[in-house]
Amino acid sequence: MLLPRAILFDLDGTLTRERIDWSALRSELNIPAHQGFLEALEKMDPDQRARVQQILHHHEHQAALRSELNDGCKELLSWLDDRGIARALITRNTRASVRTVFDLHGLHFDVTITREDGVYKPDPTPLLRACQKLKVSTDQVWMVGDWKYDIEAANAARITGIWLSYGRERTFEAVPDHTVKDLPALWQWLKQLCEQRV
Ligand SMILES: [Mg+2]
Repeated sequence: MLLPRAILFDLDGTLTRERIDWSALRSELNIPAHQGFLEALEKMDPDQRARVQQILHHHEHQAALRSELNDGCKELLSWLDDRGIARALITRNTRASVRTVFDLHGLHFDVTITREDGVYKPDPTPLLRACQKLKVSTDQVWMVGDWKYDIEAANAARITGIWLSYGRERTFEAVPDHTVKDLPALWQWLKQLCEQRV
């Protein structure tokens, strides 16, 4: 395994702690468990979509304001900076909520792709677009995320997919290339790869 030239990160549940109670929101908005929120929105009529979007934006904004970084996030990102390993953020969130999280925690990314960019995970397009912008090929990057959309998108893009398990059993079909417990474990592994290279 080679050290990646760039890492693509998911945001919620990966860099930050998950703050939205998605199952409560599903019940409130009547969205079935098998369907993603954005996918459900696409199928709604304009009035319903506007109403649901407003509720969703409210929850996302509140979650961003209360966001907390996961353990090891700052250390990992600064280590990547020191090694010149680029990074992109790939999220299904709004640009506004991402901006709130970045400002709150002083984060910066070389490339940020949000749902306003049009196509979102599990479609591989945002990952491929990030690689283009970072000027790296797909075999030189990793996608790191905590949910099936991250792994499905990585697999479809033929990018090494790293699943953060937090010790959970995997409940989705997509198979990640690697599973690590959390960000400190990911950092540890990257450091090992770095040492092996010398
Ligand atoms: Mg996530």
